[in-house]
Amino acid sequence: MIVILKTGVPEEQVQKVVSAIEAAGFRAHVSRGEERTVIGAIGTSAETRRHLMEMLEGFPFVDRVVPVLKPYKLVSAEARAGRSTVRVGNEALGPGRFTVIAGPCAVESEEQLLAAARAVKAAGARLLRGGAYKPRTSPYDFQGLGEEALRLLAAARAETGLPVVTEARGPEHIPKVAQYADAIQIGARNMQNFDLLTEAGRTGMPVVLKRGLAATVEEWLKAAEYVASVGNLNIILCERGVRTFEPALRFTQDLAIVPVVKELSHLPVIVDPSHASGRRSVVPAVCRGALGVGADGLLVEVHPDPDNAQCDAAQQLHPDEFRTMMDQIRQLAAVMGLTA
Ligand code: PEP
Ligand code: MN
Repeated sequence: MIVILKTGVPEEQVQKVVSAIEAAGFRAHVSRGEERTVIGAIGTSAETRRHLMEMLEGFPFVDRVVPVLKPYKLVSAEARAGRSTVRVGNEALGPGRFTVIAGPCAVESEEQLLAAARAVKAAGARLLRGGAYKPRTSPYDFQGLGEEALRLLAAARAETGLPVVTEARGPEHIPKVAQYADAIQIGARNMQNFDLLTEAGRTGMPVVLKRGLAATVEEWLKAAEYVASVGNLNIILCERGVRTFEPALRFTQDLAIVPVVKELSHLPVIVDPSHASGRRSVVPAVCRGALGVGADGLLVEVHPDPDNAQCDAAQQLHPDEFRTMMDQIRQLAAVMGLTA
């Protein structure tokens, strides 16, 4: 069950609820979100569950107790009344906005990153992306500049003001990524790296969780539950396409998954059309589609010289293409009553 506390409940009252849950033989998972604290009570005895529910409903600082039968609990739509807003630096993802995260696939040099950061900022992106630790299918491909890239990302943030999202490829990258970045990305190939999910969760920082290449929605939400279960509800789900029989594009991206996931979870959902399609020419159309189906934002690759990029050259947008796309997105978002 999920215990939803009233807003602004002091820590000692949170601990009272935790003690009551543990005294009943259940495990308590406290998750602090932007507006509220929710506590998951996980246990098996149906008899005790009913008794515990009734008791918790009587606590003055408990708003609601919701029984959740789904295998993911803290991230499920039932766990809170409305949709979550997740803050990243001075920006946010959630209701009322369409937040665009853009930047190169990988940080390649100071010159390349700054050119990309300035271009995406000028076009209206709210956050900067750029890989420091790249998950590459071949061990002989460019693996990223590591900590040097993190330093360059921090410098690009200092100049542009854009908060930084970058990937941690393994649990050992978490301390460094947490030191320099504003949000930790967990890549598609790592969606079920449970140690990575747990370590990312423990930082309390926003986590951008990509859907796995062959993951069902339920598996994706259970992966998000790993982050939530260690006390971190600052999770942004990112739909990046899955592998199917269709070879026309790199992956198959079902935009209908966005409203499905938004029915199942209160977390913000963004769309990555770059990795899904692998093809620059289709990226702007899918960006417009993502806005139309109710996504909370985009993760888009933009490179100052895409043809000479060290990775994902075929999918990264040229700054001019990104600017045109953003002009359209802003107009469409306004029609939908959203700030882009
Ligand atoms: C990325 O966004 O840099 C990336 C590698 O994407 P994915 O994990 O979705 O393949
Ligand atoms: Mn890429």
